[in-house]
Amino acid sequence: MPPFFFTTAKDSMSRARTGEISLCGGRILAKTPLFMPVGTSASIKGVSSENVDEMGYPIILGNTYHLSLRPGSEKIRGLGGLKKFMGWPNAILTDSGGYQVFSLAKRMVFQEDGVEFRSHIDGAKHFLSPSRVIEIQADLGSDIMMVLDDCPPANPSTERLKESLRRTHLWALSSIRHFDILREKKRITEQQKIFAILQGGLSEEMRSDSLSLLQEATPSFDGIAIGGLSVGEKRKDMYKMLDFLGPKLDTHSPHYLMGVGAVPDILEGVKNGMDMFDCVLPTRNGRNGQAFTSEGVIRIRNQCFQNSDAPLDPACDCKACQKLSRAYLRHLFMAGEMLGPMMLSLHNLHFYSSLMRGIHQSIQEGRFAAFYKKWNQVYQEQEER
Ligand SMILES: [Zn+2]
Repeated sequence: MPPFFFTTAKDSMSRARTGEISLCGGRILAKTPLFMPVGTSASIKGVSSENVDEMGYPIILGNTYHLSLRPGSEKIRGLGGLKKFMGWPNAILTDSGGYQVFSLAKRMVFQEDGVEFRSHIDGAKHFLSPSRVIEIQADLGSDIMMVLDDCPPANPSTERLKESLRRTHLWALSSIRHFDILREKKRITEQQKIFAILQGGLSEEMRSDSLSLLQEATPSFDGIAIGGLSVGEKRKDMYKMLDFLGPKLDTHSPHYLMGVGAVPDILEGVKNGMDMFDCVLPTRNGRNGQAFTSEGVIRIRNQCFQNSDAPLDPACDCKACQKLSRAYLRHLFMAGEMLGPMMLSLHNLHFYSSLMRGIHQSIQEGRFAAFYKKWNQVYQEQEER
């Protein structure tokens, strides 16, 4: 069997590495480190699948929780799976819905084999279990599936954290059993993969326990995801945990840092051996008038842009920067025109795609340390001002 993931180069100064993830039977070779745009409800908000593909994204993320509530995974399966449904030609990773159940759903009640909750859309009662979550992701036709996990909020009590770990591990094992059953039934193909999720909050001891247990269960799992970070903790605490976990992760499989997407956080993740990231930031901030550029964040509503005929980012070759001025984009936002949020989302996704290509190249050329320093200067210092 060809390797699912292989490392091709490693930075000499840090744990940063490049690699290639083979998906869809080798049709998609995703170069890592990579960023996955988030298509919560079968749509990368404000940007067409075609445009996202043109930017060179090999894989996007779909949300199990949202899609199972609306329009329903059986319906998507009947229409040929999520990729066909949304006209996306490349790979899809679907999350397990765990994080959304804990952050969005109402009246959540744990049961031994899953979690009962009320939909945030219409209040209807639903139940997600490890096996149900795998069924949904099989319906969606996901290329990389995630196990159901119990993701506690930032700063939970020790008791809550222990409970979350016990449940996350039980559920991880149930998920892999069900994944294997569906593979035997040919509802899941050999090309489809499954990742485990590491929890343990900011406790090094619990993170270590979680990791030993999950790594024991590999090679059943094709990759490992780090959950429960970027959930409201301090940035320095997240960085400390990344530094702690980096050397402990199995080097043969992909490492996915879930929900992380601020530029300094991606750089820190890469420095600590992370390969995959996802975040709503490029599209959410784009909708709100914030553009990520080579000179830092620009707030396009700012009055200083009202007469500017310069592009959003002179260093960018996206469709918005090629044709439109800052003054025009500002006008679209001020006039409430939907083209404004669409153009900034498009530009931001283009920026992230270029950023990841730049990271990949800098590692391969042995100059990641300088790349890290340069972008941190642009972004972290701007945030601190
Ligand atoms: Zn641009």
